[in-house]
Amino acid sequence: MGGCEDRRFVVTESWGTEVLVVGAGPAGLATSIELARRGRRVLLAERSLSNRRKLCGEFLSGDGCQVLKELGGELTDDCPRIDGVLLTGMRGRGWQTSIPGLGRGCSRQRLGLILASVCDDLGVKRLRGVRVEPGSGLNITARRGTVPVEIEARMTVHASGRAGSARLRPSKGRRGRRQWLAVAVHGRGRRSTQVQLHATGTGYVGVNGIEGDRINVCALLRAPGTAVDPLQILMSESTHNPLLHNYLSSITFDDTSVCTVAGLDFGRQSPPRSITVGDAAGAPTPLLGLGLAAALRGGQMLGKMADDAMQTTTTTSELSARYQRAWRAEFGRRFALGRHLQRLIMQPLLAEIVLLGLHQFPRLGERVVRATRGPLPVVS
Ligand SMILES: Cc1cc2nc3c(=O)[nH]c(=O)nc-3n(C[C@H](O)[C@H](O)[C@H](O)COP(=O)(O)OP(=O)(O)OC[C@H]3O[C@@H](n4cnc5c(N)ncnc54)[C@H](O)[C@@H]3O)c2cc1C
Repeated sequence: MGGCEDRRFVVTESWGTEVLVVGAGPAGLATSIELARRGRRVLLAERSLSNRRKLCGEFLSGDGCQVLKELGGELTDDCPRIDGVLLTGMRGRGWQTSIPGLGRGCSRQRLGLILASVCDDLGVKRLRGVRVEPGSGLNITARRGTVPVEIEARMTVHASGRAGSARLRPSKGRRGRRQWLAVAVHGRGRRSTQVQLHATGTGYVGVNGIEGDRINVCALLRAPGTAVDPLQILMSESTHNPLLHNYLSSITFDDTSVCTVAGLDFGRQSPPRSITVGDAAGAPTPLLGLGLAAALRGGQMLGKMADDAMQTTTTTSELSARYQRAWRAEFGRRFALGRHLQRLIMQPLLAEIVLLGLHQFPRLGERVVRATRGPLPVVS
């Protein structure tokens, strides 16, 4: 296939693809697995050529671990268990509690490999380096480099994630709001079994362990200042939070693992015209570390519903509406809570008040943390 330089070619004609899934992130991989398990012929198209490093906090919540297991994926023992959260503020105040439903730290590359291997076992046909145009419906437009790829499928599921640019240039979002900028880097140093969330005034920095005795540091910021070196941005942000600054000063960063995304917008998506899943259907604010669980679970739910729909006369818009309803019932309340909590932690004064309140009323804090977690059983 790679040798087809200037001719149009049909990838799937002889193979008889039933469902084309666009994007091999957690949502696309989970959708493909669920459909393939039900005997569907699935083609999974991914624009990247390799399983590259992805910007993420790399915390997989307890319900995410549970869904991964149900999909047939198994985390290895070196993915550290995460059982608590530590919240710190700009005045050196900290508050900690346990997280119901044991989470795990796992890099996106590792998670991708685990899910891709389940896909391969189930016979999902995976295409790399193929970009499918957004909004493609029945007439699918896709390209490998400049070469058009013709794909025929009964149904297309868009799992292409949330738009963002790897270039570090803050831009104005919708309605003139400044959009988010995120920086993530791996390193080595003192690890704990907590997710750390450090407020910095213009955003916050999350830290947790991942496999290979490493630490993932991930910052989500509103105003990165003038620095364009991601590590410099991270270190200068940390000067606003003494506990974070001390901690980051003790870490040895792996410069080759730095990744950035600018222009993130966590606003609500307009209603989809096609079937969308994961961040493509609406990205959560990352504070609660629910995006991966929601992407995996969303793929699992949509895969089942899409299979059912293909056995009946259900239309694309009926399927899409049914899926959105089911998804909202499971995640809508928690995503809304995440948006409110993120707003609080982003305001330096409010973040301090929250921390003071948590010290005064720790039970209330524990209840809020419990409310952010799903109903799925604890994974050991
Ligand atoms: C700063 C930050 C920190 C986060 N931290 C956490 C965390 O700790 N825990 C957590 O659970 N969640 C976290 N999240 C959220 C989580 O990363 C996302 O919710 C999750 O990645 C969504 O998965 P997805 O499969 O929908 O999209 P993605 O992971 O974005 O995957 C989409 C895939 O589609 C491919 N693609 C895109 N367009 C096309 C196209 N046209 N054709 C073909 N392929 C295409 C992309 O290359 C990509 O591989 C964080 C998010 C941010 C921004």
